[in-house]
Amino acid sequence: MVQINVSQQLKESIGSIRNHEVSGIVDIDGIKNTVRGEVKLMRTDRGILAQGTLHTDSELTCSRCLSLFNCPLTINIEEEYFPTTDIVSGAPLPLPEEPGRFTINEHNLLDLTEAIRQYTLLAIPMKPLCHQDCAGLCPTCGVNLNQASCDCPPEPADSRWSELSKLVLTDTEASVKEQKGTQ
Ligand SMILES: [Zn+2]
Ligand SMILES: [Zn+2]
Repeated sequence: MVQINVSQQLKESIGSIRNHEVSGIVDIDGIKNTVRGEVKLMRTDRGILAQGTLHTDSELTCSRCLSLFNCPLTINIEEEYFPTTDIVSGAPLPLPEEPGRFTINEHNLLDLTEAIRQYTLLAIPMKPLCHQDCAGLCPTCGVNLNQASCDCPPEPADSRWSELSKLVLTDTEASVKEQKGTQ
């Protein structure tokens, strides 16, 4: 469960702390992610502060060979959750005008789903790799070079690119020299 009932804790005094085991499945943009870990909930003057380290397993597509693989990620969540109803009277509470704030619903459930979704999306690498030295796909015949080899001749290096990389290198060297000169 990534939903925690906080009705008891909302009645406790500021600073009270409770730890909860979290495990469940969170849907992130149509992909099921298993999540497990522990969150510490602390009563604040405005609501409940959730802090925790969670481990997720996201199914990603390798940017080189396009195969699906399981990518373990660790996310550190820290978010304050605001109650929408008064725990004693049940009356609706005004919410702070903070963009993207998280809320505790009228059943006193603190739902970590949206925070997990946002933090996981930030943690996913821009170019995921199934493993560091993934051989990728052959640019000529498309075979997955992790699983098979092919007889295609190696791609000739594009001479325009090597000219460009020389330029970039020279630029970097020049700026290094410049920095040294100013020191
Ligand atoms: Zn790969
Ligand atoms: Zn090939």
